[in-house]
Amino acid sequence: MQLTSPVAPGGTIGILGGGQLGRMLALAAARLGLKAHVYCHDANAAAFQVCDRHTVGEFDDLAAIARFALSCDAVTFEFENVPAATVEHIAQFTPANPGAGALRNTQDRLVEKSFITSLGVNTAAFFAVDSEKTAREAFAALGGPGVMKTRRLGYDGKGQAKVASAEEAVRALDSFRHAPAVLEAFVDFFYEASIVAARGVDGSFAAYDPPENIHEHHILRRSIVPGRLTPAQASEATIIARTIAEALGYIGVLAVELFVCRDGTLLVNEIAPRVHNSGHWTLEACTVSQFEQHIRAIAGWPLGDPVRHADATLENILGGEAVDWAGYARRPGALHLYGKSEVRPGRKMGHFTTLGPLTKPPRRP
Ligand code: AMP
Repeated sequence: MQLTSPVAPGGTIGILGGGQLGRMLALAAARLGLKAHVYCHDANAAAFQVCDRHTVGEFDDLAAIARFALSCDAVTFEFENVPAATVEHIAQFTPANPGAGALRNTQDRLVEKSFITSLGVNTAAFFAVDSEKTAREAFAALGGPGVMKTRRLGYDGKGQAKVASAEEAVRALDSFRHAPAVLEAFVDFFYEASIVAARGVDGSFAAYDPPENIHEHHILRRSIVPGRLTPAQASEATIIARTIAEALGYIGVLAVELFVCRDGTLLVNEIAPRVHNSGHWTLEACTVSQFEQHIRAIAGWPLGDPVRHADATLENILGGEAVDWAGYARRPGALHLYGKSEVRPGRKMGHFTTLGPLTKPPRRP
């Protein structure tokens, strides 16, 4: 079902997934006078605390999914591993964006990288691996160190192994219990960056300034904007995001994770068909945050102004660091805590954003 007219204030936005991204989407919807109905399997979901209505249910319970869809005026998701079939089912009743096609092209790393390279956008060299034989062949073709990744369901470095020999590639596949994988070239990148952008129902496009991202143990530690990208690299990143969004007929916010190589080349690591951790600083540093932008896009509203009015550093609060909430509260900056009661090592519990005066002119869309 297509969105034929904007969802007016008072309408309901459905959000599949109830983590911190769903929570911040629900808060952004509320600011626009829209209600949020969050659907999640976890009865303690962080987003349930801030929405108008919630449903505890599984993504494959199509009867519950249909009831949820019928209670909403537009539906979206905060989690890229929602089954594409669930979103397709919802779309029979209610406009659902980004659509199932965006999920199908991004849930499987082999499909995703093939799609990206088909657009003339560069990724690290990659090879499909599904057996000991193909693991050895792929390593020989790569001719150097690589990273084995499961094709599906990996995130924050889960389902990944760095490999320096054919034997290690075979062992990595064993450790994945022979789940289909890709072997990609290890990129000795200069640093990592990302571009968060939105495409509206009318095809309009708006990109935020691309931050530089620092990961620790494969988890985002900090995003800094402006990062070290040159204006030409920032423009190239924007063109990459736009090319991908247009090819997908995308509606909503998406993020493209990038490796910035020492020779200045940008390689796409992956596409996140949703709001993204490296865009949380937009809550304070932009007039319209990535969360509001996403709600605007999927509700058929005009996109808002993504221009940055401050420099920003976003820092994630991970695992036990949240115990020191009072210490964060004393620091100058914006504290966000996600309302998660269970602390697990590396779990994203909140984030903290500090702002400073603009040191470089912001990118204009
Ligand atoms: P991913 O789950 O693919 O987003 O990877 C998580 C992190 O692992 C990335 O942000 C990088 O820091 C690192 N990484 C992933 N793939 C590669 C690669 N091919 N070469 C070097 N580092 C990588």
